[in-house]
Parts: sequence; C-alpha cells; structure tokens
Amino acid sequence: MRQLIGGEWIDSRNGRVFDSVSPWSGEVVATVAAGDQDDTRAAIEAAQQAFGPWSESLPHERQGIFLRAADELERRGDEVIALLAHETGCTRHFADIQLEFALSLLRQSAALPYASQGQLLPSDLPGTRAMAVRRPVGVVGAIAPWNAALTLSSRAVAGPIALGNTVVLKPSEHAPACGALLAEVFVAAGLPPGVLNLVTHGPGEAAFVGEELIANPLVRRINFTGSTTTGRRLAEAAGRHLKRMLLQLGGHNPLIVLDGVDLDYAVDAAVFGSFVHQGQVCMCARRIYVERPIAEEFSERFAARAASLPVGDPADPETVIGPVISRWALSTIARRVEEAVAHGARVLAGGEARPPCYPATVLVDVPPDVELAFDETFGPVVVIDAVEDRDEAVRRANASAFGMNAAVLAADAAQGMEVARRLDAGIVHVNDQTVNDEPQMPFGGTKDSGWGSFGVGFAVDEFTELQWVTTRDAPRPFPF
Ligand code: NAD
Repeated sequence: MRQLIGGEWIDSRNGRVFDSVSPWSGEVVATVAAGDQDDTRAAIEAAQQAFGPWSESLPHERQGIFLRAADELERRGDEVIALLAHETGCTRHFADIQLEFALSLLRQSAALPYASQGQLLPSDLPGTRAMAVRRPVGVVGAIAPWNAALTLSSRAVAGPIALGNTVVLKPSEHAPACGALLAEVFVAAGLPPGVLNLVTHGPGEAAFVGEELIANPLVRRINFTGSTTTGRRLAEAAGRHLKRMLLQLGGHNPLIVLDGVDLDYAVDAAVFGSFVHQGQVCMCARRIYVERPIAEEFSERFAARAASLPVGDPADPETVIGPVISRWALSTIARRVEEAVAHGARVLAGGEARPPCYPATVLVDVPPDVELAFDETFGPVVVIDAVEDRDEAVRRANASAFGMNAAVLAADAAQGMEVARRLDAGIVHVNDQTVNDEPQMPFGGTKDSGWGSFGVGFAVDEFTELQWVTTRDAPRPFPF
C-alpha cells in the first residue's frame, strides 16, 4: 500500500515497508509504505502547491466532490465494514455506526463551501466599510487514531478540505489501509491532486511524521485525535512553533445512575456505553456512579449482562467483544485489572484475558490510587461505585483530570438535567449513555480531554483565519 502525495500513489522515499496486521487473526492486512520526514515534507509541499487553486475553487465544485465521495464510500460500504473488522478488530455494529457517520459527514460537509465567509461590521470612521472575513488557513496536518479509523480520519480531513484548505493526513500505524481507503474515495470523487495527501509510517515512527508537520512553517494548523499523553507532547512542541492545534483526547467518562430510574433501560444503556467496540471508544463509560439504594441490584444485573456478551471474531455479526488492538493494549488492560484486584477490587464479571480479546469486565471496590481508577484504560473494563447521593456523584465525576463526556440516567429528564448541568465535561447526555456522535454536533472535551471541535459548522473556527478588512470610498482626514 502506497502513500498519496501530490496525486501520485508512491512508495516511501527510503524504500521501507511494514505490515499492518489483523488484531484478530494476525494475518497481514496490507504491506504499507513506511514513510518518514522526507515523505512528509514532500506531502506538505504538494499540499502547499495545491492550496492556491483549491482555495479559489467554486463552491459548487467542492460540493460536487463531497457528494460524489459520499456516493463512492456508500458503494464500497461492504468493503469498508470488512476492512474495519480486519484491520482494527471493529465489530459489525460499530462499523455500521462509523460508516453512517462518515456518509453523513461527507454529505453535510458538501454544504460548507456555501457557509457565510464573514460579517460586515459597523465602523465609527465615516466612509469606512469594515469586514471580518474568513479565509482558509492553508496546509492542515491531520493526525488520526486507529480506534474509529473511518470516522476519525474522515472528520480530520472533511472540514478542512471543504473550507478550502489542503491536508496531509497521517493515519495510525494500526489503521493505514483504512486511511488509504478514505483517500481513494476522494480521488475517485475527483479531488484535485495535492488537496489530500496521505503519509504512512511504521510502528514507533510516528514522530518522524509528527515532528515535520509541527515544525514545517508551511503547515498552518494541526488537528490531533488520540491519547492525552501523545496530544500533550505534540501540543508542547506546537507551542514552540506557535502553531494552533485542535486536540481531541482521551477520557475517563462518568455515567451516573439515579435512584428511581428504569433499571432495565439503565442496564441496557450502561452495557452499550461501556462495552461498544470492546471499550475502545474515547466516549465509553469508565466509571459508573450509582445511588446506593439501587447499587446492588444494578451491579448484579449489569455484571450478568456483561458476562453474557459474545466474545470473538469481529467479522461475525453476533460478536460484541472483538479483539483489542494489540498485544501491548491487551497486556496494559490485564496489568491494570490485576493491580486493582491486588489492592482490594472485586471482579463481578470478566477479569481474565482471552487473547486476543479481553472479555467485558466489571469491577467494584476499586481503590482511588490504582491506574484503573483515574486514568483511561482503553478496553472493556468498567468500575462501579455506589454513592450516597447525586452530590457525591457529581463531586467524584468532576474530580477527574479528564472532561470528555458524561451521562446521567434518571427517572425523568428534569432530574437528570439538574445533575448534568453541574458536570465538567464537553458533552453530557441525559437519559442516554455516553457514546453518541453526529457530524454537526460540537463534539469535544474540556480539561485533559482537549479543546476545539470538528463539528460541521463549528469547524469554521478551527480551519479558517479571521481577517479584518476595511475599504474606504473617499480619503479621510489625518491629525498630522
Ligand atoms: P495515540 O495517541 O497512541 O495515537 C494517536 C495518533 O497519534 C496515531 O496516529 C499515532 O500514530 C500518532 N502519534 C503517536 N505519537 C506521535 C508523535 N510523536 N507524533 C505524531 N503523531 C504521533 O492514540 P491511539 O491509541 O491511536 O488512540 C486511542 C486514544 O485516542 C484514546 O486515548 C482515545 O480516548 C483517544 N481518542 C479520542 C477521541 C476524541 O475525539 N476525543 C476519539 C478517538 C480516540
């Protein structure tokens, strides 16, 4: 699999390749170009060359490309779903969610070229017309994770391109073929050469690409979706170059269950929110705070459902818990569960790896100082805590360093809203679980979960520069 640079599918300049392997079977999904800073530089230069004409292209040309890209992606839908399973271990229901999101994103983004490009502003200088004009920024670096490879690579490029920018996309080393498929879709839709470029790299070599994207002065913005650890490191480097970044990072998301709730619904919702895509979604619930009167019954029923979730081949539509992405991820999950248990946690469901899967796991009595209690564990592990009341739930939820999202399940929406409005999170759902996304929403976290938003419409703030422009019809007086 080659890189896309300036409209050409090319090998890496250093000639190296690596294998992208299936987390389920270990089979080689694709042999991929292992690019580095030289390829990145070439991609940036190609993007810079394409920027002028693309930024001047007519809205209807851009719109047509986005609509054709959506049709092409839809036509390749079965192939996309199979690839998501093969390369990223994505189960059928989550692949359907990803495809639906990407199609909607492309079709909504088709309207972005027609978005207003600014405002007229009143001036106190007679005869002056003042404007705030939105202009594309230029080359945008887009760094995407593997976990929702289609959704997250799509949103990393759609807004920037629709608004007249050009992009260098760096997919994860765990999902290069998914990134390439997206690029193929845009090429087939008629996107001009250089508007979208794709650079791939081998495991452990992301920094070669990342450092060039951050340091190269032609790149005017970076968007990053991934872990807080990586995002923080990149944001520090970007700070040295005074380069603006959009950061969509990890979370440690609370789900609060209030006394009086419909328990059947609460259990169904919490099971989905905790274990969709085997817990490898930034929005998954990691902590469930349950009011004490219902805590025992909720925990028992929740754990029974978790224990019954089918584990196995992600290509089997019955599977709920597919493989985790890598051996390293599996060992991190296992180590954190073992650490919690060694410090007094009780396992209500799961708790033993079944390589390459980790079954849905429910823990109680987790002490506050083990990693599972405060850091994001990117897998199917959730901690339940009984709380005395909703104030304690809010206090404990807000004590997290993260602020990705939260959810409240209550007997009625007003009760849920009363709790939700006190939560420090970028996204809050009442009477739903934590995992929800639609392209037009202002999706984004606070605190250690990042800043900024890709939401169609909101992306305008991220991927355009605001320019103050004045014009005068006649000369003005000057004081000297
Ligand atoms: P990761 O941080 O390991 O990698 C994310 C991306 O950064 C990958 O493309 C990776 O190759 C790249 N990267 C790593 N080091 C780099 C460097 N030095 N320079 C440039 N790029 C570098 O995360 P991951 O394991 O791929 O994804 C899972 C994480 O992403 C979780 O923490 C999850 O919560 C988070 N996530 C957040 C959102 C969101 O919208 N907030 C969405 C999905 C995933």
